[in-house]
Amino acid sequence: MQLLLDFPELNVRSRPVLNLRAYDLIVICSSAGKDSMALLAYVAQLIREQGYRGRVVVLHNDLGVTRSGEPVEWWGVQAAAREHAERYGFEFVVRRRPGGGLWDQLIGQRRRWMANHARWCTSDQKEGPAMTWVTEAVAEFWELLGVPADRPVEVLYCLGLRGEESAGRAAQPIVQVNERRSSGNRRITRWLPIRDWTIWDVWEQIREAGLRPHAGYSWGLARLSCSLCVLASLQDLMLAAALRPALAADYRWAELELGEPFTERLSMGEILAGLEAARAEAAGGTAAAADATVVLYELVRERLASTPIALGEGKTKAGKPRRPWTEQQLAGRATARTSEILAAGRRAVSLAAQVDTSVRMLGPLDEQAAAVLAGAAR
Ligand code: SF4
Repeated sequence: MQLLLDFPELNVRSRPVLNLRAYDLIVICSSAGKDSMALLAYVAQLIREQGYRGRVVVLHNDLGVTRSGEPVEWWGVQAAAREHAERYGFEFVVRRRPGGGLWDQLIGQRRRWMANHARWCTSDQKEGPAMTWVTEAVAEFWELLGVPADRPVEVLYCLGLRGEESAGRAAQPIVQVNERRSSGNRRITRWLPIRDWTIWDVWEQIREAGLRPHAGYSWGLARLSCSLCVLASLQDLMLAAALRPALAADYRWAELELGEPFTERLSMGEILAGLEAARAEAAGGTAAAADATVVLYELVRERLASTPIALGEGKTKAGKPRRPWTEQQLAGRATARTSEILAAGRRAVSLAAQVDTSVRMLGPLDEQAAAVLAGAAR
């Protein structure tokens, strides 16, 4: 059976097309973010064009709440993902890790923050529960047919990962059978049809499809999903903490409880101190702003001083042994980082004062709005 109609690697910024009729089940993963929306709209378009008649499911993972009951993800993402699925008449499924959400796993089990090199948040909170659902769906498939399995159920598992987001994502194949997750009764093909799309392609697809994006993009955020994501930019983290102080306070509590900073590059203590300094500045309290900036500087300096690079561990890119930073070097880098955090704090405080977070969805986009969102995300 021919699975691939258009080999994507030959065509940069491709719109790869698979023969969808070769699959019994199509699973479209959705966090409700822009990449998920573009993925959904694109796959839905192919489903329509190819007259696919099999089962299509939009799968959303609920990552749970923190100790104070704050959702880990942005408000309203589940409702947004549901709306997007319903727009195409697709089945919508929400899954949550049976052993507990992200917070429970962080505090009760892992006791270490997730990180770029340790993405247990994605593997355990998203992929694991999704695969459990696939196992159940495959069993249902054979039950419905009432026949013994004489071939594996073909599952197309679609993800909205894009190469622009990281080198690791760019290196992932667009189409690949997931051997580890496949078995005698199911074959799971992992498909990343928008891997080579630019941010412009993404917003243009959303505009053409007439989908309503989550309002978070108009608040100044570049990404959705977890409000305080370890992979997010400094700007997004500062804005998220400004908009969600209760969640940020829980994460600060976790940071102290676990005894390690939220990320290697930034602690939640620094985020909160940066916001405090920016708020004091905005309120005109010069002395209070100066005091808060000193607190921020000390936190930055303390974290930087304990990094392997500052301690002189390991080797330089040229292969030479590293030297520990001098006091002067440490002070210089701490000053520069304090300025960056403070600048992001000012932006966050200013944006947070302007947005109405009770409005959770935008309307369908026109060309100008799509271009503004694409430009803002760069
Ligand atoms: S949004 Fe960030 S923190 Fe949340 S699951 Fe994804 S990578 Fe992990």
